[in-house]
Amino acid sequence: MKILFITPYDNNYRYKSAFTKSLSYMPLTMPYLAALTPEEYGAQFKAIDEGVQKCNYEKLGFYDIVAITAVTSSVKRGYELAAYFKKKGSYIVMGGHHVTLLPEEAMQHADTVMTGPADRIWRTFIEDFAKGAPKKRYDGAHCDIGTANVIPKRDLMQKSKYIGVPTVIANFGCTNNCEFCVINSFWGGKYSARKIEDVINEIRSLNSKYILFLDPSPTSNRAYAKEFYKALADLKIKWAGLCTTDIYEDKELFDLMIQSGCIGVLMGFETFSAENLKESHKRNKIEQYKAVVDQFHQKGVTILGTFMLGFDGDTKESILKMPDYIEEIGVDIPRFAILTPYPNTPTYRRLALDGRMISKDWNDYDSIHATFVPKNFTSQELEELLVSVSNECYTVKRILKRAVKNKYGGLLKLGVNLGFRIYNKKVKKTLKKNWSTRA
Ligand code: SF4
Repeated sequence: MKILFITPYDNNYRYKSAFTKSLSYMPLTMPYLAALTPEEYGAQFKAIDEGVQKCNYEKLGFYDIVAITAVTSSVKRGYELAAYFKKKGSYIVMGGHHVTLLPEEAMQHADTVMTGPADRIWRTFIEDFAKGAPKKRYDGAHCDIGTANVIPKRDLMQKSKYIGVPTVIANFGCTNNCEFCVINSFWGGKYSARKIEDVINEIRSLNSKYILFLDPSPTSNRAYAKEFYKALADLKIKWAGLCTTDIYEDKELFDLMIQSGCIGVLMGFETFSAENLKESHKRNKIEQYKAVVDQFHQKGVTILGTFMLGFDGDTKESILKMPDYIEEIGVDIPRFAILTPYPNTPTYRRLALDGRMISKDWNDYDSIHATFVPKNFTSQELEELLVSVSNECYTVKRILKRAVKNKYGGLLKLGVNLGFRIYNKKVKKTLKKNWSTRA
């Protein structure tokens, strides 16, 4: 049995420079699915991550199964690949966030679709396939077997294409319910975690001083997180991962996190408006932003903060003030995205009901294009605002200010900021071209 895994490039791919591509981290879906394939079938694997590598598919031999995982902004490319390999006679399986949100659409392109976490259903699919009776659809979120304790086959990936820091997953899902987020649709609103011992053993086996955790909400279960950080501290590694701003409310958890070797966190601040937080059901507290950043800085932790534009409470003025607010709270690496109502999420349904969705081109769902009509300005103005705040936040002056404000993170922080400055320039160029075509 020969299996080809593909992660198609998404629409953002063309804005990336060689430097930002070099900051890519290794995705684990393909290595996990390979590891979960029962050995008795003697399967041979190949994995292509189009986000970092090019592949001449003409030169590849025949594959019995082609498994494609896609988010909304990469799904058109995914469908293109599905059609290409179907013509060659391969059996097409599709999964990932977009397929979970719109399985009926994906069924028109794939022989089998997998919704939710594919690691829970992959084995069953392979067994059914080997028997010659694969089903049209498998639903991972409703399957309660938990994640099997396997070590992902990382060797399948071209390691040199990624940052030299191994990625690890310890837990899944999120107990929050942000209106725009796809996590809860994907995990069926459930949160679960691997056995601490299994995660620790996997990290040991990686023999690396640094780890990047991919867990979307690692502190959702605080009791688990505390035990996990205690165990992690013994390994004396350094790590980075995601974190919610409410960490500020649990000093014990924060201390354990630091003691376990945390050196970088990505936090979704999203907005400086209480109205926007309410609209999106985001449980942030604006009055804690500066305090939580200061708390991390005091321990030498670098903060990558994400911000979203286009909520109903946003005005042009409020958005243009964001670079100053960001400087005030002290985020080291700010990232902006346009609010993107992914299909079938509560945000999408709300805006569609109001007749405000304007794009059905999934390539536009890349956080750079406005796919809906905002409340207080036009869609094009929203894209212009993205360009304006990105320009303002990534002036050399502001970058240098950020670099010296928090002395930790050093050259890497400076490099990442400069990388995003180049990325923003490419985004601006593409958007400007669109605007002139529309005019
Ligand atoms: S906290 Fe993060 S992962 Fe959880 S629902 Fe909100 S945006 Fe999604």
